[in-house]
Amino acid sequence: MKAALLSVGTELLMGQITNTNAVYLSRELNYRGIDVMYHYTVGDNPERLAEIINLAFRDCDLVITTGGLGPTQDDMTKEIACEVMGDELVMHPEILESIRRRMAGYKITEMTPNNRKQAEMPSRAVIFRNSCGTAPGFALENIEGTKAIACMPGPPREMKTMFEKSVAQWLEEKTDSVLFYRELKCFGIGESELETVLLPLIDGQTDPTIATYAKEGECSVRVASKRATREEAEKAVDEMTEKVCDIVGKFVYSKDNEELSQVVSKMLKDRKLTLSSAESCTGGLFAAAVTDIPGSSEIFPGGFVTYSNEAKMRDLGVKKETLEKYGAVSEETALEMAEGARRKTGADIGISVTGIAGPGGETEEKHPGLAYVGFVYGDKSLCRKIDRKMNDRRRNRSHSVMVMFETLLQNI
Ligand code: ATP
Repeated sequence: MKAALLSVGTELLMGQITNTNAVYLSRELNYRGIDVMYHYTVGDNPERLAEIINLAFRDCDLVITTGGLGPTQDDMTKEIACEVMGDELVMHPEILESIRRRMAGYKITEMTPNNRKQAEMPSRAVIFRNSCGTAPGFALENIEGTKAIACMPGPPREMKTMFEKSVAQWLEEKTDSVLFYRELKCFGIGESELETVLLPLIDGQTDPTIATYAKEGECSVRVASKRATREEAEKAVDEMTEKVCDIVGKFVYSKDNEELSQVVSKMLKDRKLTLSSAESCTGGLFAAAVTDIPGSSEIFPGGFVTYSNEAKMRDLGVKKETLEKYGAVSEETALEMAEGARRKTGADIGISVTGIAGPGGETEEKHPGLAYVGFVYGDKSLCRKIDRKMNDRRRNRSHSVMVMFETLLQNI
């Protein structure tokens, strides 16, 4: 199947927003074996919108639009799609009712004609519910059933949720095949190295496909297969996943697209262990990541943010001599911080970090990007040195948090 993506919105043409929808959809369609032939972007103009849809249909079977589905005057994707596909808009009472309920949730009781307009849909359309906003999406075929258009709202969160919950399945039904994939999350290996070592598997593969992605110090490998049934696709993916793990298994921390923090948290819960943190350069980012996971009170009694030497001594019992002899950014201080956090909270495990996030702050021996992660559990105590020589404060801090989680993963 050949597809075109059509992003609607004058803001896109003005350079006011980046077209992330097209990137997301291109990737998702390609995974599903649908060839994306064109990316079009058009402003909020009815004539040009109709013209581009007709142009795309010259050699594509499917057009997917995002944007212009809202209630305002300039939102006209629905009307134009209807016109091009030879259909008419009709009122859908159940959509009207769901809009009314959503508005009532926001304490809005008065429904304007604009809101009612959102409940009108092409008569032959397959409707896609919008669980994050008011404008539903839809798919519509021409009378002959040879061309189809799928229209989704512009806001990326609404669009992605709609795609995952409804459009993906609609596409699968159209293409008579099922896509199954696993996302293997890795830490401790860069994307280019990951790709290089997996090249013998990637080269020449058409199904399952293997693709690598990078995101903030982490990488992932997506293994996808499209077969006649889910069982066949899953089997093919699992066989390929095993081959991938034979090569890079030691870097893989999740085969189900979970965050490192989720994996660690689950592990601690399963083993009924508790954890306390002592953070300097990350200023509480680790504690925030742990407590982001529902139910974290079971594993996390609390943590410390000790930025100054005084706070390290007062709150964690780090020795003055240690700070004077080795400095705040040192293995010795990191270990005393971890021990202090464990002792003060009575947790099973203490984890700490102290480092120079940058920019600046360097001394003769210590530079931005240098950090130490301390870990104590039972009789075990260890320290990991992070030596990145990097001035980017945000990335240094988030990398330190990742190393803290990785240290936990590898040592409990
Ligand atoms: P709404 O009901 O919010 O009006 P809509 O379907 O009419 O939804 P638009 O008005 O076209 O969508 O866009 C709403 C917002 O969604 C834009 O201001 C922009 O922030 C975001 N958006 C729209 N299209 C894209 C895109 N292609 N990529 C990224 N963001 C987008």
